[in-house]
This record gives sequence, C-alpha cells and structure tokens, in this order.
Amino acid sequence: MNRFHQDFPILKQEVNGSPLVYLDSSATSQKPAQVIDAIDAYYKQINSNVHRGVHTLGTMATDAYEGAREKVRALIHARTTKEIIFNRGTTTGINLVARSYAAAKLTADDEILLTPAEHHSNLIPWQQAAKSSGAQLKYFELEPDGSLDLAKAKKMITSRTKVIAINHVSNVMGTIHPLKELAKLVHAHGGVIAVDGAQSVPHLKVDVQDLDVDFYTFSGHKMFGPTGIGVLYGKEALLDQMEPVEFGGEMIDHVDLYESTWKELPWKFEGGTPIIAGAIGLGAAIDYINSIGIEVIEKHDLEISQYAYDQLASHIEGISLYGPKQGRMGMVTFNLGDVHPHDVATVLDAEGIAVRAGHHCCQPLMRWLNVSATARASFHIYNDESDIDRLIKGLQKTKEYFGHVFR
Ligand code: PMP
Repeated sequence: MNRFHQDFPILKQEVNGSPLVYLDSSATSQKPAQVIDAIDAYYKQINSNVHRGVHTLGTMATDAYEGAREKVRALIHARTTKEIIFNRGTTTGINLVARSYAAAKLTADDEILLTPAEHHSNLIPWQQAAKSSGAQLKYFELEPDGSLDLAKAKKMITSRTKVIAINHVSNVMGTIHPLKELAKLVHAHGGVIAVDGAQSVPHLKVDVQDLDVDFYTFSGHKMFGPTGIGVLYGKEALLDQMEPVEFGGEMIDHVDLYESTWKELPWKFEGGTPIIAGAIGLGAAIDYINSIGIEVIEKHDLEISQYAYDQLASHIEGISLYGPKQGRMGMVTFNLGDVHPHDVATVLDAEGIAVRAGHHCCQPLMRWLNVSATARASFHIYNDESDIDRLIKGLQKTKEYFGHVFR
C-alpha cells in the first residue's frame, strides 16, 4: 500500500474475505476523506441556496460554490471563470455542446469527425446533431493499437469539418490523443474541436489554452470528487454565441410574460438550483490533487499502467491485450481466451478484486476490436504494484478455474 491509500476510507475494508483491491477507477474513482469531509461540513455548517440569499449562510454557500469554480478554472488554466459551466457530468456537457452549438452552426454541407473509439456519451449526441442538421458523421481511421496517425487524420480534415468530437484519453485502451495538433488542423479550416476529457483530467495536466481546444468536458466523480457534478469548459466567444438548453430559475436576467433575457456567462447555462454540494466536493478534490501535484499523479498513473501491461503480458500466457504497448493512461483492457469477461470479473471479485467487464459504453469500438466485451483493470493514485500482483494471482486462478476453455 502506498502513502495515498490511507486517505481513502473505503479502501480499508475487506470484500469477500480479502482486502479490497479497487481496479475500477475509470468507472469512478474513490473519494479521499478530505472530499467526504468537505461535503459533510457544507451540509452541517453552511447549507443554503446560492446567488439569492442576503443572509450569512447564503453568502457563505455562494462564496464556496463560486470558489470551486475558480479552482476548476485554475486546474485547467481557463482564461476566466465565465468559461467554466457546472453541470451533471461529461454526458451533460457534451449534450449541451451538441445541441446548442451544433444546432446553431451545422448545415447539411458540414461534417462532424469522430473516432470509432468514442464513449457512447460522445457519440450519440453527435448522431442526434447530425440527424437534426443533416450534417454527416465521419470517422478517423485508427491504427491497430488504437492510436491516430496524424498524417492520415490531416487528410480527413477539410473546410467541411465543422466539429471534431474526440476523447482525450480512451476509456478502453488508455490511448492519449494529440489534441494540440488536431486543434491546429481544424482551426485552419474554420472548425472547432470538442473534447471528451472524462478520462484525462483525472490523470494528466490539462491546459485548455495551450491545447487551444474549443470545448472540453469532464466529470467530478472520476477525479476524486462526488457524483452528480461535472464541468463544461468552452471558449468565452463561443459560449457567448450559444443559446442555453435549459430554461428556468437562476439563469435569467429579466422575465416578461412573453419574452425573457439570460444572465451572463457562466450562469446562463446553469438553470435551476445548482449542484452546490457537488461543486464544493469537486473543489475539495482539486485541493487534494494539488496537494499531491498533478504531475506526480500523471507519472504514477502512467507507470502503474505500464507495470500492469508488462506484468500481464509476461505472466498470463495467451492473454489478449488491447491498445498501445506504451504511453497508456490509467488502465489495461484484456481478454482471457474464450472466458467471458463477466466470468473473469466474477472470479476476481471473489478474491476481493474489483474490475469492470463489458462493452464499456463503447459498442462500436468492441466491433472494431472484434470482441463482444473485455475486462478492464483501471488505476489511480491509491494503487501500487502490490495491487497488480494480486490481479496477476487472481487471473492465474481464473485460468485454472476455466482451464477447459482457456489453454
Ligand atoms: N466519456 C468517457 C471517455 C468516459 O469514460 C465516461 C464515463 N465512463 C463518459 C464519457 C461519461 O461520463 P459520465 O457518465 O460521468 O457523464
């Protein structure tokens, strides 16, 4: 156990008679006591609605909520807090962009470029935008290890490309995509790049100004924060041109019987009582990340993923591993011969090891990989080599157990 493990109360328990090894952080990360305590303190000491109360608690809650926005801005180096929209998570952020930006800008002459490795949350909203606008969906070709060849990608980006919608880090293969270069290419043709950052912000340093991306979405729950809070970053000039997709209290400036006007950024996109406790919890999660250093987390998560990949490749004969051999972030994805990944996960669970099995919300990618499902072990700062060693032992047991289908 490393020194961070002790910050996470949930990890101190036994599951099915063995100390828990949590290898499912790509689905959701665990929460340090610092985050749980911050949410607890909010409800015990300052719970109030924000932006409207004249009373002391209302002011304290507003300060804490807006303070969290500033922490997010600093983490991803946005220019201003006007560019930080709080919402429910990556899915909600992408839907907002696909509905609001795409609806206003896309025509039947335009193309939306994606990869076949998008999470359903970064695929279906664009399918819907294409249906409503008549725009065409097109897909970059992936290399056999799931990476993008920039020279090939360049050929696909033309003056018809209005949007590139792409993940920064794949939630199946851990591939890291070259956003800066893609942004440059699409901007040269007058398009924008909208990034699904669900698997990147938790693990690596993201600087939206340096990358020069136009939209960037992520979820608090994968980066030590609570569920129910997420972020959409958008360039101010673009967000300014966009219409809200949710209307009601909090987001208005002036309301008449037949017409209304909206608040300025970022609040025009935050209709209704916002996710106050969630934002404060996310702020505490960012404090936790900063107390370690995102560079330290990035190095650790790359190294543990490489260790896992190398150990699996050398100790589990016949294993199929998917994605890049090197430079993978946060996960290894695999199959053991014909053993169904749900069976793999079930045997591991009996040993106290939590992994994910299934299509990982990436059905088109499963078809591209020519499998129906995979098992995925994913990591965060609280994992160390001893966890991978337990995984290897668990997989050796799985192989013995299913010897009749796996030789
Ligand atoms: N994109 C990717 C790459 C993801 O891994 C996930 C979460 N599995 C999502 C989008 C959706 O995130 P959320 O469910 O928090 O909206």
